[in-house]
Amino acid sequence: MKKFLTKNSKLVQVCTNCIYDENVDGIKFDIQGKCNYCAQIESLIKEYGTGGKKGKLLLKEIFRKIKKDGRGKKYDCIVGVSGGTDSSYLIDLIHREGLRPLAVHFDNTWNSEIATMNIKKMLKSLKIDLYTKVINSDEMDDIFRSFFLAGVAELDSSTDLGYATVLYKVATKFNVKYVLEGHSFVTEGITPLGTNYFDGKYIQGIHKKYGKIKMNSYPLMTFTKFLYWTLFKRIKKIRPLWYIDYSKEKARKILEKKFGWQYYGGHHLENQMTKFVHLVYFPSKFNTDYSNNNLSALVRNKIMSRDEAWRIYTKKKNVEKALIDYFLKRLKLSKKEYQRIMKKKPRYWTEFPTYKKRFEYFSPIFFLMQKANLVPKSFYLKYCKKN
Ligand SMILES: [Zn+2]
Repeated sequence: MKKFLTKNSKLVQVCTNCIYDENVDGIKFDIQGKCNYCAQIESLIKEYGTGGKKGKLLLKEIFRKIKKDGRGKKYDCIVGVSGGTDSSYLIDLIHREGLRPLAVHFDNTWNSEIATMNIKKMLKSLKIDLYTKVINSDEMDDIFRSFFLAGVAELDSSTDLGYATVLYKVATKFNVKYVLEGHSFVTEGITPLGTNYFDGKYIQGIHKKYGKIKMNSYPLMTFTKFLYWTLFKRIKKIRPLWYIDYSKEKARKILEKKFGWQYYGGHHLENQMTKFVHLVYFPSKFNTDYSNNNLSALVRNKIMSRDEAWRIYTKKKNVEKALIDYFLKRLKLSKKEYQRIMKKKPRYWTEFPTYKKRFEYFSPIFFLMQKANLVPKSFYLKYCKKN
């Protein structure tokens, strides 16, 4: 089998169907040289009927149920919007299907202006209400700073978890049972379950140790709140893009034409913090580059050749000086301090307090909950299984 050359001039085995190589966490290859992540995606396509008749029917039934359960309420579902391609396309899709969403935006104050403008333009034209939760920027920066000082990989996790918390809160406030997410495993792939992990206790613990100001307004997801929203309130998370024939490239064109929507240059790049994490932090400190997720998806969907994707993946990336300067300014770090921390040996989530043991202990309950669609299967696999 043909081997590929890495950035460090090592020959590695690469999946014959994508560009995941032998260094990806938990990777296995079959006799044909196809990786287990490609196999997992193929089995998801079968299960959800993605892009086929089965998927269409399943999604139609989901939308029918959402509308039925939402009768008499102001909104029938909650949708998280970031200004990125997937969530924007999702909003347009469900609007066409006659759903009555409330759009929710979590503003960690690091957003790019393009993203904010995209959200405003679209929602205005579709006459969809927007609920924005702006986090106190000093508090947010203090949490980011703690994670940076701790030297762990999950620098941006407080955004993801805070966002999830706000979605549940808003759903409860408006008595809505469905939270829709613009995730697509076809275009994003499945992130290896491997080394990254976060939960509310982790965020609290790291902030307690390294933070300077009190956590006041940040929406922290505690274990009890999580159980309350999923088990007691039975708020379901749905990912409609899992069922349909979805392409980011086509979606972008439709959005540009219909709403004057603008592209911000790449997956995860609509926010300055995620941009820093993906372009600087992961590659420099952890020697990992998650751009292989997206590039692999392009290869699987025959939008890009394997050679071309591998070339882009291994090409030296130019880091914008302005991005690092912005990071330093926001986190009040000197250049020297920054360099010292970046050079320090990475630390891992297992060295800090988390809910992981508790999730594992309650795993039989979460198993039933994932069967009832109250928590995603990916949650069950990542949080409740022993690794
Ligand atoms: Zn593969």
